[in-house]
Amino acid sequence: MDVVAAVLRKAGGRFDLETVTLDAPAAGEVLVRVVACGVCHTDIGVQHMMPLPIVLGHEGSGIVEAVGPNVSKVVPGDRVVMTFGSCGGCASCVEGAPSHCHNMRILQFSGGRADGSPTMQQKGEKIFGAFFQQSSFATHALATERNVVKVTNSAVPLELLGPLGCGIQTGAGAVLNTIGARPGSSLAVMGAGSVGLSGIMAARLVGCTTIVAVDVNESRLELAQELGASHAFDARDGDVSDRIRSATGGGANYALETAGTVQSFTDAISCLAMRGVCGIVTVPNRGAAFEFSARYLLTGGRTVVGVLEGSSVPDVFIPQLIEFYAQGRFPMDRLATYYPLDRINDAVADSVAGKAIKPILRMQ
Ligand SMILES: [Zn+2]
Ligand SMILES: [Zn+2]
Repeated sequence: MDVVAAVLRKAGGRFDLETVTLDAPAAGEVLVRVVACGVCHTDIGVQHMMPLPIVLGHEGSGIVEAVGPNVSKVVPGDRVVMTFGSCGGCASCVEGAPSHCHNMRILQFSGGRADGSPTMQQKGEKIFGAFFQQSSFATHALATERNVVKVTNSAVPLELLGPLGCGIQTGAGAVLNTIGARPGSSLAVMGAGSVGLSGIMAARLVGCTTIVAVDVNESRLELAQELGASHAFDARDGDVSDRIRSATGGGANYALETAGTVQSFTDAISCLAMRGVCGIVTVPNRGAAFEFSARYLLTGGRTVVGVLEGSSVPDVFIPQLIEFYAQGRFPMDRLATYYPLDRINDAVADSVAGKAIKPILRMQ
């Protein structure tokens, strides 16, 4: 079928709305009429490593329009959130850790299905898609049964929910699933963007009593406090680790690093209390090496752990976050700024400039 999609033809270039032809759903696939799609930093950061031209977008929500053979999870008319792809058969998937699926690279970043076939074309020209098994910067997306999550609560606005599929479950899941923050504990969060703020909301939800937000943007630090941070530190004032140690009475039980600089990584690790755990959701300065003391980890029993997609089992975790939102305990709507699809380039620019925390594109 012909659909309208935001096609990227050059890394770092503009998205252009074009008509492309999307395959009908094959076995195990689900065609979704996209209602809205969040813009995630990964849509911007991975462009240089993707085949082009491509349709990106991996925080889509929408309504199932058709299903291929052998699909039993959803039927046409169901409301769904789309999340990352996973194979279901590797050791990580079988052990309940699909965010570390051994086939992650193919499923998220190859530009096609798991078997390598393309999902879309334009008058015979290959257009790469299947980004995170969805490519949701479009009016319609082809997902798989495994990466659609049914939304059963009809009272929540579907257009808000797409970011649960990546950025928001990453931050919330880092705190609730990966590091397993306990009531009464302390957490320091480096970076008050959508991932960091989701971590802060989750920390308040689970009962952390000292929550420190660190950023360089005053309005984000203010929002962090409204969402649950007990302390807000401007990183430009320096001595971040010392200030966290002082605020937490000797060191943070947990840290969440989302800012992506060598300094923020250093602070996130060096602010930890004995047996503290630091979750990292990014890399410093595009992969720069940095030093930390193995003795400090060893003698303190400290842990540094990589976090992808908040260690989420999406069919379990996303409905939980939706219920927390519905009950007013996870106000993720405070992060959202909406744009029509034809303003996608403005949404990306506002995200890069830090003006929009979580841009969400409306397809209609
Ligand atoms: Zn797998
Ligand atoms: Zn993402």
